[in-house]
Amino acid sequence: MPIEGSFVTSAAKIDPIELAHQLIRCASVTPADAGALRILQDILEEMGFSCARYPFGEVDNLYARLGTSAPNFCYAGHVDVVPVGEATQWRHNPFGGEIEDGKIWGRGAADMKGGIAAFVAAVSEFLADDKSAEGKPFDGSISFLITGDEEGPALNGTKKVLEAITAKGEIIDHCLVGEPTNPNTLGEMIKIGRRGSLNGVLRVIGTQGHVAYPDLAGNPVPTLLKLLTALTCKKLDDGNDSFQPSNLEITSVDVDNPAHNIIAGAASAKFNIRFNTEHTGDELLTWINSQIELAGKGFDGHIEADLSVPGHPFLTKPCVLTQKLSAAVNEVTGHMPTLSTGGGTSDARFITNYAPVVEFGLIGKTIHKVNEHAKLTDIKNLKEIYKAFLVRYFAV
Ligand SMILES: [Zn+2]
Repeated sequence: MPIEGSFVTSAAKIDPIELAHQLIRCASVTPADAGALRILQDILEEMGFSCARYPFGEVDNLYARLGTSAPNFCYAGHVDVVPVGEATQWRHNPFGGEIEDGKIWGRGAADMKGGIAAFVAAVSEFLADDKSAEGKPFDGSISFLITGDEEGPALNGTKKVLEAITAKGEIIDHCLVGEPTNPNTLGEMIKIGRRGSLNGVLRVIGTQGHVAYPDLAGNPVPTLLKLLTALTCKKLDDGNDSFQPSNLEITSVDVDNPAHNIIAGAASAKFNIRFNTEHTGDELLTWINSQIELAGKGFDGHIEADLSVPGHPFLTKPCVLTQKLSAAVNEVTGHMPTLSTGGGTSDARFITNYAPVVEFGLIGKTIHKVNEHAKLTDIKNLKEIYKAFLVRYFAV
């Protein structure tokens, strides 16, 4: 059924600003999609895509494909957004998608509903031009993998959709994730890899007691300090050609002891390691466990550790994807983008196990903040970049 309102302009071309506006108006804070996937599915079906939903837990996901032949180029993204934060500090309704000062305002404007709208619009123009120029459809397939669980725990999103579509025989040849990769100006930066991430929670259990009688207690604090010192003193590496040095950051130390005369019974800490391709998650886990054992020697208590590796590092080497995307960026913006591996994790960490993946989207300056916005010219130029890329990708 056609959607209400008109996204389709002349020759079935989608207006990216109008679509971004409609998507922002869906209050899709993870795990809700609040109608955003319905909007996309209706438009994509109108354009000839076969769409299937992949619900997992309380999250819904969409995979859509146009064409049956290879290569299958996939655009991946998320319609979920982070919460608005301090609602009263927003200049506009965070779910209003209002347009003012040449910008569209709202949660998800840059991360990443504006990017998704730009890609859908780019595909509509590519298809319209493609048909009118050659009289035959392009050779290959275009697909969309849109999740509702990227900003949340990411357990019921891209990872599971990839497993499910692969089980059905789907093959993705190349993938572009539309995350907001540019720090300040459109065209500055393509992400070609990401660091891995390791989370640690340490809990040192001793024996509570009176500070005047330490021999009757077992203070966990010195042992925790010894362990944290050992973990932070080691230089993990110097980085390499593609990555900055790995880094361990202590994010919290808690004893929760308001009294002056009590030795607390337990002390805990949290840390995160962002690590590059000089390490594997397993190797770091082994190292941390060895430090826990050392710190616990001679301590009359024990140390509990909860360690997890939510993301492994990856690097997409220069290939047709990076070359053609860089050329498209250069054509539209005049910039030759930096190929970077900095920043946090994204769903590209899952996609890299299936296909070469890069990331390019809007500007990240206001994401996750109050007054998130995207310039209308950036959304339009991003649409031009995506379209120029599609032309190059499917050129015979
Ligand atoms: Zn995002």
